[in-house]
Amino acid sequence: MDPWQEARERMLLRHVAGRGLDDARLLAAMRAVPRERFVPVRFQSSAYEDAPLPIAHGQTISQPYIVALMLDAARIGEGDAVLDIGAGSGYAAAVAHEMGARVHAIERIPELAQAARERLRELGYGDIELRTGDGTAGWPEAAPFDAIVAAAGGPAVPRTLLKQLRIGGRLVIPVGDARDRQRLLRVTRLGEDDYREEELGEVRFVPLIGREGWDDAQGGGDASSTDAAAGPPIDDDAVVALIRRAAEMLPEVDSQAFADLFERFALARVVLLGECSHGTSEFYRARDAITRHLVREHGYRIVAIEADWPDAAALDRRVRGRPAPPDAAPPFQRFPQWMWRNREMERFVDWLAAHNAALPQVQRTGLYGLDLYSLHRSIRAVVDYLESVDPDAAALARSRYGCLSPWAHDPAGYGLAVASEGLARCEEPVLQMLQLLLEKQSEYSARDGDDFLDARHNARLIGNAESYYRAMYRGGAEAWNVRDRHMFQTLESLLEAHGEHARAVVWAHNSHIGDARHTDMGRVRGELNLGQLCRQKWGEHAVLIGFGTHAGTVAAADDWDEPMRIMQVRPSLPDSVEHLFHRAGVCDCMVELHAAASNGLHAALAAPRPERFIGVIYRPHSERQSHYASAALSRQFDAYLWYGSTRAVDALPPHGHEAGMPDTYPFGE
Ligand code: SAH
Repeated sequence: MDPWQEARERMLLRHVAGRGLDDARLLAAMRAVPRERFVPVRFQSSAYEDAPLPIAHGQTISQPYIVALMLDAARIGEGDAVLDIGAGSGYAAAVAHEMGARVHAIERIPELAQAARERLRELGYGDIELRTGDGTAGWPEAAPFDAIVAAAGGPAVPRTLLKQLRIGGRLVIPVGDARDRQRLLRVTRLGEDDYREEELGEVRFVPLIGREGWDDAQGGGDASSTDAAAGPPIDDDAVVALIRRAAEMLPEVDSQAFADLFERFALARVVLLGECSHGTSEFYRARDAITRHLVREHGYRIVAIEADWPDAAALDRRVRGRPAPPDAAPPFQRFPQWMWRNREMERFVDWLAAHNAALPQVQRTGLYGLDLYSLHRSIRAVVDYLESVDPDAAALARSRYGCLSPWAHDPAGYGLAVASEGLARCEEPVLQMLQLLLEKQSEYSARDGDDFLDARHNARLIGNAESYYRAMYRGGAEAWNVRDRHMFQTLESLLEAHGEHARAVVWAHNSHIGDARHTDMGRVRGELNLGQLCRQKWGEHAVLIGFGTHAGTVAAADDWDEPMRIMQVRPSLPDSVEHLFHRAGVCDCMVELHAAASNGLHAALAAPRPERFIGVIYRPHSERQSHYASAALSRQFDAYLWYGSTRAVDALPPHGHEAGMPDTYPFGE
C-alpha cells in the first residue's frame, strides 16, 4: 500500500475539499499525483502540509490549496489545451494532466526545467511537454489554449498570453505592484478583443521574470528579499491628504458632541461596533458612549456582545433587574476574562441598569451573548430550566446531552472522537432536544417568556457548538463559519423576538463585523462573518464600524490560557492601512468610508493593504505574520474610528484573586 496515501487524503479533506474546492475531477487528480516526489527529500515529510516548500534556485513548489485554487479557477476540462507557466517542480502540470488536459509547460530556470522533465517522465507523465524559456511569451506553436495558469506574478497581465487564449479560454495569473504580493486574476477571453477580468483574492507568488514580467535586476529568486522592494504604492500621499480632509475629530468621549457624531447612523437596524484588539480601553469607552446614545435616543433594545450566551445572560439579569438563579456561578470564568471583566464594561453595565430601572420591563434594553463556547454551561442551563418547568423533559435532556458529557471540559476532543469513529454521534440527540423545546414553546413560555427564550437559545447553541467542534477538528474555514453563522442566527432571532421595529447594537471584533468578503478571510480562506451576513440581509440598514490604532498598550496574553499582561502595541507597519492614518496625523477621528459619503475615501481605501488584527493573544515579535492580514478598509467598513494612541483596558482581578473584595460582578454596586 502507498504509505503516503493517508496523508494525501487528509490534505485533500482539510486543505482542498474542506475549503470549498470540491470538484470531483480536481480531487481525483490530486489524489493520483504523488506530491512527495516533487519536493526535495528532506522536505518529504511536509509534502502534504498546506505550505509552499523550497525546491531549488530560490523557487518554491506552490502550496496544495493554491494549486487547487488555480486549476479550479481555470475550469480545466477533459481534453483542454493547457499552458502551465512557471512549471517549477512540475507538480501543477502533473495535476492538470491527471485532469485530462493536454499540458504544455514552461520554466525559466534551465536546471529546474531539466529536473522537472526527468521527474515527470519517471512518474509516467512523459506526455507533458516542458521547455525552458520565458513564459510571458507563451507557446505560440501550441496556441490557442483553453486555459493558461501562471504560478509566478508580474506587474500586469501579459498581452501576449491573452492573444494565445482560445475564445472562451481562461488565464489565471497573479498580478501586483509588488514583486511578492499579488491579486489572483482570472481573465476570460469573451471575443476577439473582449475580455472579462475577475479578482480571486490576495496571494503571494514568486515574481514572474520576463519580457512582460519583472526584469531580472533583483535576482527575483528569493521571495523573502522582496519585502523591501514592495514599498508604498505611489499614490499614498494622495490617500493621506484625503484622510486628512475627511476626518471628523472625536470630541471628549462623554460629551454630547461625541454622541451627536453618530446620530447619522441612528436609523440603522443593526449598528455593529468593532475593535482591532480585545483589550483596548478606548474602544470600550467609545462603544459605550455610542450605545448609550442609540439606546437613550433611538430605542435600541438589544446590545449583543461577543461573549458566551450564559455569561451575558448574567449581565442581562443585572441590567434588566431580573433575579439571578439561586446557585448561579459567577460569569466570565473562562479565558479571556479581561475581555468582559473590566472597569469599562462595568461602567456600561451600571449605566444600563440605572437607565432601565426607570423604565417598564418591555422598554428595557437587554444584553445578550453571541458566542458559542459554553457547551457545558448551556447544557446545564437547559437541564435546570426544564427541571423547573417539566421534570420529565429534564430527564430526557440529561440522557440526550449525556452523549456530549465525556467531552464537557474538553469539547475539542469530541471532534477527534467523531473523526476517528467516522460519525456525527451526538448531532441527532442534540437536535432532538432543540426540536422538543420548539414544540413546547407555547406551553413553556406561558410561565416566563424570558426564561424560555434563554433556554431555547442555549439549546440552539448546543446544536451549533456540536457542529463547531466537529468542524474544528477537520480544520479549514468551516468551524469559523459555523461560529459566525451562529452569531448571526442569534442576532436574527433576538430581533425577531423583539418585534418588527427592533434594533440592535453589536460589540464584536473587527474580524467578525468587517465584511469578510473584502479581507483575506473571505477572499483567500473562504470564511464568512457576521458583518457580511448582516449586510447581505439588511443592506445599508446594517452599519459596520471598524476601530483602529497606531500604537500604545493592550491587555493580551502570550498564548491561550496564559495570564493577561499589559503589552506594548508596536507602531503600525509602514505599508499598513493604519500607517496612512498615522501619517495623516488625525487622531482621534472618525471617517465615513461608504461610497455615498463621497469624500473620496471609498475609492482611495478600496485596494487591499495589510491591516492589524489583535485578538486575545498578541505576539509582537512575529507581528506581520501573526497579526496582519490584507483587507480593503473602505469595503470592509462603512465608517472607521481611528485612535493614534491607545491604552489597555482596566481589567478587574480574575475570579478568586480579589484582595478581600467579594466577587460580585456583575451584581455588585
Ligand atoms: N507550480 C509550480 C510553481 C513553481 S514556482 C510548482 O508547484 O512547483 C514558480 C516558477 O515560476 C519558478 O520556478 C520560477 O523560476 C518560474 N518563473 C518565473 N518567471 C517565469 C517566466 N517568465 N517563465 C517561466 N517560468 C517563470
